[in-house]
Amino acid sequence: MTAATPTAATWKGQADLERAARSLASRLPPELRGLAHVAYNYRWSWAPRGPEVFRDLDPEGWQAVGENPVRLLLEAPPESLRRAAGDRGLLERARALEETLRADLARPFAASPARPVIFLCAEYGVHPSLPLYSGGLGVLAGDVLKEASDRALPLVGVGLLYREGTFHQRVDASGSQREEWFEVDPGRLPAATVTGEDGRPLTVSVRLWGREVRARIWRVDVGRVPLYLLDAAVPENAPEDRSVTARLYTGDRRLRLAQYALLGMGGVRALRALGIEPGVLHLNEGHASFAPLELAREAVRRGRPFGEALDQARGRAVFTTHTPVPAGNETYSSEELRDVLGEELEGLGVGPEGVFALGRSGPEDRAEPVGLTVLGIRATRATNGVSRRHGQVARRMWQHLFPGRPEEEVPIGEVTNGVHLPTWMAPPMRALLDRHLGPEWTERAAHPATWEAVEAIPDEELWAVRCELRAELVAFARARAWGGAAQAPPRPGLDPHLLTVGFARRVAAYKRLHLLVHDPGRLARLLAGPPGFQLVVAGKAHPSDEEAKGVLRRVLSLWDDPRLAGRVVFLEDYDLAVARRLVAGCDLWLNLPRPPLEASGTSGMKAALNGALNLSTLDGWWEEAYDGTNGWAVAAVGTSDPEAQDAHDAEGLYGLLGEEVLPLFHDRAGNGPPAGWVRRIKRSLATLGPRYNAARMLDEYRTRVYRLP
Ligand SMILES: *Cc1c(COP(=O)(O)O)cnc(C)c1O
Repeated sequence: MTAATPTAATWKGQADLERAARSLASRLPPELRGLAHVAYNYRWSWAPRGPEVFRDLDPEGWQAVGENPVRLLLEAPPESLRRAAGDRGLLERARALEETLRADLARPFAASPARPVIFLCAEYGVHPSLPLYSGGLGVLAGDVLKEASDRALPLVGVGLLYREGTFHQRVDASGSQREEWFEVDPGRLPAATVTGEDGRPLTVSVRLWGREVRARIWRVDVGRVPLYLLDAAVPENAPEDRSVTARLYTGDRRLRLAQYALLGMGGVRALRALGIEPGVLHLNEGHASFAPLELAREAVRRGRPFGEALDQARGRAVFTTHTPVPAGNETYSSEELRDVLGEELEGLGVGPEGVFALGRSGPEDRAEPVGLTVLGIRATRATNGVSRRHGQVARRMWQHLFPGRPEEEVPIGEVTNGVHLPTWMAPPMRALLDRHLGPEWTERAAHPATWEAVEAIPDEELWAVRCELRAELVAFARARAWGGAAQAPPRPGLDPHLLTVGFARRVAAYKRLHLLVHDPGRLARLLAGPPGFQLVVAGKAHPSDEEAKGVLRRVLSLWDDPRLAGRVVFLEDYDLAVARRLVAGCDLWLNLPRPPLEASGTSGMKAALNGALNLSTLDGWWEEAYDGTNGWAVAAVGTSDPEAQDAHDAEGLYGLLGEEVLPLFHDRAGNGPPAGWVRRIKRSLATLGPRYNAARMLDEYRTRVYRLP
């Protein structure tokens, strides 16, 4: 391409990242210097065999530094580096990786980058080494950035850099969760502070509680997509002000509101400081809802009346709502809002009350708290939910904002979530499909025709990959299993040949971890068999969600029951690294949300890409994905009484396990693969593969929501 082709390098901070990479390179043997540049862009993490290059440099060190390549290169003992520098095979692979990345970054954009899509989100799950996420919302946001990079879509991410982001979960002998935070040292992340012409860090400020709170801007590269992260821990700020970005979803409401103001208003100011003209502002969840107000303020400052300014801003902003659960649709009182960002709201020309009215269902009702979701809906030109079912639920939930409109005409659409295939498909599965789906098949992953070739894969080959992935998970789970009340290793051995069932997600009441043990005796009989199965469970409760912590304790109190003990494993500290292994290695993936509270769910999509079968209640994505042949569904029940729903759904779960799942898995001729099971895997891949990937999702956002040419 010509030098004029704009690439990610046209966005500020590129030189800062390059300087950081050069400084790292200068500490390395000459043969390894290229890897310092690879380390400063997460593109390596989804390149085929990319992670292995860093891992093989120092396998133990790689685990010890949490798969952070910058730390690996900074901290590896000199003898490891010397050995790597003499390893011709490794150097060859490193050079090939560098070349792949260079070629990827040099591709032209798919649309003009002059006015990119701005994606704003409070959390990002890009990689285990960047602990700035809590759960599905963040992981999805990470997948969006990666897919935008793969599609060469001009998109820029904006978020916050928390010193205490993802927490670590420890579970004591009584089953109680403890949280541990390790402070992130941004200087050891693949990140650089963006500096201005004068070489000093660029900063933006937001007036909070009557003071100017400043933030600097870090840049992290996710392939071609720059992710800009605001960080209030700067020396100019008072200690309280520095703590605005101290902790992800802090329990302190005042600080949380300040975070959202920094993300939305500070985020747009950061774009200005970076010289980026937003094409579309995509508010990914209500945390970013203040962003359109900042655009409106700019127009007010240019002399427009507020109504007109807001109309203009609305025309450039879109909103995705991600959950019907109340905790995910935060509201704040007008006192809280005045206290934290009253002065900011003065600049809009309508006074704070004029702004609060936007966030109330009854704009006249001054006692009604202000909702971030309501604000997001009112301040943007398009709102969408994240599955067909969730679209319906959201239309019903927010119908009162559109008086006089029948439910089906409420202007809230849907874009069903999808997951980033190169991130979530494990290498053995990827290699299998590379052999059978034709060259460059991932470029056509959103076309149903691409996946038809799955039917022709010999059963033995597909089954061999499944067995390999299960064995990898069993080895990992054996080493990591929580010790139970005795806290005495070893937990009994898992069996690499046994049907392996996974349940891993945030422990939130509506996800119903407790349903697994609704009838412990029945579960025990199914587990013990014959033929039997094994169950791998993981999940964190939000630090301030006492109800969820109680559920976890109650479920784990059964773990030492001798009837279960041999066949159940709990893995502490569910995160991206644990998720990757679980979704790859399980044969059956359970999801038991209480309908209609699961907006989408994405872990089941990841499992499906690896040849697992889903068994789920008909909620979220599964409501539209299940077709009777590609997994199992717990039939819906006509009651909303929680206890009756639980009893019905537990019965459905146990019934399906005993009568369908176990027999099908064990129906084999001799030592061959289970033909019926493999047929179902193929149906699952062929029907779910083309639809529940991020390529299809981003395509829908691009054409239907962003409306890019
Ligand atoms: C995919 C993923 C999630 C979301 O899973 P759900 O099915 O939506 O519950 C949460 N956490 C991690 C670490 C993930 O990888």
